[in-house]
Amino acid sequence: MSESPSRLELLHFARRVVVQQATAALAQLDGWIADEERREAERRRREEDRPPPPDWLIERGLSRTSLLAVHRGDCWDPGKRTVGVTEDQAREALQQQVRACSKCRPDTALGMFD
Ligand SMILES: [Zn+2]
Repeated sequence: MSESPSRLELLHFARRVVVQQATAALAQLDGWIADEERREAERRRREEDRPPPPDWLIERGLSRTSLLAVHRGDCWDPGKRTVGVTEDQAREALQQQVRACSKCRPDTALGMFD
């Protein structure tokens, strides 16, 4: 006849079960944390890989030679066909009477008021 487990043995057994469950739950949590950290790192890497917007944009017309307007690189309405240009190129375009965008005012940003 086997003796029924004592109250102390039952408590120890319950403790082992709780430890096992907590360990499993912790392992799962750690896995989720590791997954999320990996995703976060990938997001950061993608953001770093993305080239920064060019400082200046020139909006082109349908023909390659027609230039419609000069924009700041962060203009919210730069038109459909734009090319990134350097500050010198933007300045030169404005000097050659290419229109300055009225929304982002590249002429003001470049200190060209006339
Ligand atoms: Zn603009």
